[in-house]
Amino acid sequence: MTSGPEKLGRRSIEEKIRLAHDLSARWGSRLRRDARIGPRLAAVRENVAASRRAMLQVGVAAACRTCEEMEGGSCCGKGIEDKYSPTLLLMNLLLDRVLPTRRYMENSCYFLGPRGCSLAARHVICVNYLCGKIRETIAMEDIIHLQTINGQELDAVFALHEAIKRYLCA
Ligand code: SF4
Ligand code: SF4
Repeated sequence: MTSGPEKLGRRSIEEKIRLAHDLSARWGSRLRRDARIGPRLAAVRENVAASRRAMLQVGVAAACRTCEEMEGGSCCGKGIEDKYSPTLLLMNLLLDRVLPTRRYMENSCYFLGPRGCSLAARHVICVNYLCGKIRETIAMEDIIHLQTINGQELDAVFALHEAIKRYLCA
């Protein structure tokens, strides 16, 4: 490939998902086997799992569930999906995630499904966001702990994203 998937201009989320599937069909097996990609995929898996555990431990997961079930919906708003690039979506396919084929809730992010976010590798805006309710109700030491783990997740996602871009643009 001479031009990377990020250089293709502004596209709808459906087009980006289609492109991610095309890239996965063409390059997925080779990417998984590549010595620069495989270990980074494993690192993202581990760091995403650690972040999820930390969110459960400090109470963020429960707070978000309360929003979802009792307070009219989560803050995963419509349009946030536009932050996602084909490469980030490809990473989610390589992490065995199933990308949605339609928006589940009209006014919510395309990737918000019946059981929360359908993605494993998320954009920095999604990983870093802490609303006022969380900042007011969760102890500062727990927030710092969560942010440390989240930072490691973002480092791992960034390293994988860059490695895949280098591979596809080589
Ligand atoms: S981040 Fe805050 S506003 Fe968003 S779903 Fe969680 S608790 Fe609700
Ligand atoms: S966390 Fe997931 S569902 Fe929520 S805004 Fe981000 S991508 Fe969308």
